[in-house]
Amino acid sequence: MKKLVGAGEILVEIMAERIGQSFLEPGPLLGPYPSGAPAIFIGQAAALGQPAGLIGAVGDDDFGRLNIDRLRVLGADVSAIAVHTGHATGTAFVTYRADASRHFVFNIRNSAAGLIETNAAATKLLAGADHVHVMGSSLFSDRAITVALSAIETVKAKGGTVSFDPNIRREIMQASGMREALDQVLAQADIFLPSGEELFLFSSATDEKGAVDELLARGLSCIVLKKGAAGAVYHDHHGAVASPGFAVDEIDPTGAGDCFGAAFVSFWLRGAAPAEALRIANACGALAVTRKGPMEGIFPLEAVEAFIATGNTQ
Ligand code: ATP
Ligand code: MG
Repeated sequence: MKKLVGAGEILVEIMAERIGQSFLEPGPLLGPYPSGAPAIFIGQAAALGQPAGLIGAVGDDDFGRLNIDRLRVLGADVSAIAVHTGHATGTAFVTYRADASRHFVFNIRNSAAGLIETNAAATKLLAGADHVHVMGSSLFSDRAITVALSAIETVKAKGGTVSFDPNIRREIMQASGMREALDQVLAQADIFLPSGEELFLFSSATDEKGAVDELLARGLSCIVLKKGAAGAVYHDHHGAVASPGFAVDEIDPTGAGDCFGAAFVSFWLRGAAPAEALRIANACGALAVTRKGPMEGIFPLEAVEAFIATGNTQ
């Protein structure tokens, strides 16, 4: 089976307990939960049985151990996660607003996560990789950008493939060089997985079809538009395939896009037809939102298949 590698931020997430809770005053918090978009992605891919490993860095602290232990339990290759003493593991504090939008306070660049590098263990992991997945949120510093671009270069040089989820977080969009790096990654991607308005950050078109056509003409193999509870739509040079979402009670939306993407890419790498890859991906995205915490809704393939057998699409 093809091996998938991710590179980027490994964080713990700490969540405000109440909807609408402000971080401008003390309040009850939940967590720590293992997190970081690439970590969620790699954890879900591994849980589905895809060989998958992560390049990243944590501190020599309980938050770092929480993350490494979780990824290991899910079956991921953690050999390229560096453990640094003297730097704390990165954090993301999140509070949900009444309108369902989210506000984050991140500590990524100045945490252990910011020390990401292509060290000997990362080089070894990449030597065995067939596919690299990049999250836009992982392009948070010059150093992180260098790691992502060199992973892409290494994997593409041996005929491998690339997927890209912009995963835009307003709170880290201002990082220097991020905008250019997002475009550079997209230019080398085979699979593009935007959600909501992210599609329009990369196209001059103002309508969905126009943007999809423009981006496909630039060399992508396929575009998968994530549409929250409504499911997803796949586009390639032959046409489009839509797949409805599964009906679930949404407890916590964070991580859905990452779990969805991991499932889609894993099944794409296995040669599944778009409709099948979308069905598994929608199921993983739906299951992800049924638990508080971004990685708590990651399930193994058997549980995902059982959910599909009994789940209702919308
Ligand atoms: P994230 O918050 O992780 O960045 P995203 O914005 O990248 O998420 P979404 O479109 O919100 O992506 O969700 C990804 C997928 O997860 C959807 O395409 C769908 O399959 C599933 N999903 C998300 N929310 C729900 C929901 N409320 N009910 C059912 N499925 C959902
Ligand atoms: Mg996302």
